[in-house]
Amino acid sequence: MTDNHKTYLVLPHLNAGLLSPEELEQLAALARKYRIPKTKITGAQRVAFLGMEPEALEAMKVELNIPATPPHVRNRVHYVQACPGNTWCQFGQGDALDLGERIKQVELDGPLPYKVKVGISGCRFCCCESWMRDVGLTAEKKGWRFSFGGNAAGRPRIGDLVAEGLSDDEAVALVTKTLNYYLHAAKFKTRSARFMERFGISALKTAVLG
Ligand code: SF4
Repeated sequence: MTDNHKTYLVLPHLNAGLLSPEELEQLAALARKYRIPKTKITGAQRVAFLGMEPEALEAMKVELNIPATPPHVRNRVHYVQACPGNTWCQFGQGDALDLGERIKQVELDGPLPYKVKVGISGCRFCCCESWMRDVGLTAEKKGWRFSFGGNAAGRPRIGDLVAEGLSDDEAVALVTKTLNYYLHAAKFKTRSARFMERFGISALKTAVLG
């Protein structure tokens, strides 16, 4: 991706920000090889190479086999942001990383109307800002709390609470059902926040909890 003055490249498909020592070494090798001035962890828990020369950007895309125009509409969620959860954090009530991986693997009935961001927090401290994501999951003692239709952009919106007290399996199933409903009911390029403003939480609950 480029803007008018600098080029930058975001490396997708990191597993909720998890990096092995080997992956860190590969990233460092790439940064040295292409003389990248700045490397950054993005808010989406991906790695961004900032300030690249245009020639280096193109060469790296070829080396990493990155398509010139990444697909924005597809039958999976756009990205999953997950906190360390109860495996690695003393406050964790649920395994956010494992749930994130499961949701990332979900194949939906068809392409989503627009990008869907998922935020999964292992406890009520909500480090992944779940309420502000299209799909928000927050662990509590009694299970996962699922909200839908959040957005942190130009017209911010707190997601609507769809269900609470969900097991891991129930959370994956309900998120899948909700996204399948959204992709059939919403117009193309309608974010979940705008869809929920028009559709309403009562109608959504009737559709997915019945
Ligand atoms: S949301 Fe809770 S479990 Fe997750 S990192 Fe923050 S404090 Fe830890």
